[in-house]
Amino acid sequence: MVLEAAGQPLVARSLALPVPGPGQVRIRVSACGVCRTDLHVVDGELPDLGRPVVPGHQVVGTVDAVGPDVDRLRPGDRVGVPWLGWTCGECRFCRSERENLCPRARFTGYQIDGGFAQAAVADARFCFPLPGGYSDAHAAPLLCAGLIGYRSLRMAGEAERLGLYGFGAAAHIVAQVARHQGRRVFAFTRPGDDEGQEFARSLGAEWAGDSTGPAPELLEAAILFAPAGPLVPAALRAVEPGGVVVCAGIHMSDIPAFPYRILWEERVVRSVANLTRRDGEEFLALAPRVPVRTEVETFPLAGANEALARLREGRLRGAGVLVVG
Ligand SMILES: [Zn+2]
Ligand SMILES: [Zn+2]
Repeated sequence: MVLEAAGQPLVARSLALPVPGPGQVRIRVSACGVCRTDLHVVDGELPDLGRPVVPGHQVVGTVDAVGPDVDRLRPGDRVGVPWLGWTCGECRFCRSERENLCPRARFTGYQIDGGFAQAAVADARFCFPLPGGYSDAHAAPLLCAGLIGYRSLRMAGEAERLGLYGFGAAAHIVAQVARHQGRRVFAFTRPGDDEGQEFARSLGAEWAGDSTGPAPELLEAAILFAPAGPLVPAALRAVEPGGVVVCAGIHMSDIPAFPYRILWEERVVRSVANLTRRDGEEFLALAPRVPVRTEVETFPLAGANEALARLREGRLRGAGVLVVG
């Protein structure tokens, strides 16, 4: 399979089955979620991508080979592989429960070949067992949309009135968790996206409207899932004094200059980077209790380009998932 970016084959390869090294497992991929970060990889918007890579970091599959020194997984285990693929375990970030910031961290579908493939190799310590009750395709979006969404929600603190900008795969999960926690959800979509706004209301948003305008009342926090810099000042204007604006994406277009007045009164802008394994364990335990229901649109592996195009155009309802094999 070859994915093309700007006319160049950026992502490729159908090779012999990879052999897991020490500490690694090989996974027969059954489903892999499609994330905006995959688009950033394919578009070359992330730094240091010096080689062709297989994207995909919401990998669901079955362990079919185990390398030396693996004791926590066995052949036949169903696992999920998230974005965080390896950390050094030694730096001060790793030693202070901030492995998401490890400067030597390696990421699935970026520095490590990911799940837009029939097989993938992963470090066993970074694979998650998956909750029952989710099919492989429905579990896939939990692994990034769910995990990073959950971390972003945590960064929003105790906010009761929560704004979500961009109602795609992550927001559709976060809205359910937020409602479960007793929060009120306000959803912002591209102007005129009636279908997206209706989708948000169906998942518990009490209001849904255009991202260019304000919510009917001031918010306590807002999470930006859409990678559009102009939403930062828009969200700052939508939050009350002391409010937090959380930027959840890995890449965003430039943020336009804005008057200090809209940041003043102790408003905070912060970003969320990656995930820790603890985020994953917490969220995957919480998801079935909510219960989070993921809405997916499935594509065959050979339809990866179509899935990415649909994501780019905002024409996916919920999460796009490649179903393999
Ligand atoms: Zn992702
Ligand atoms: Zn480290």
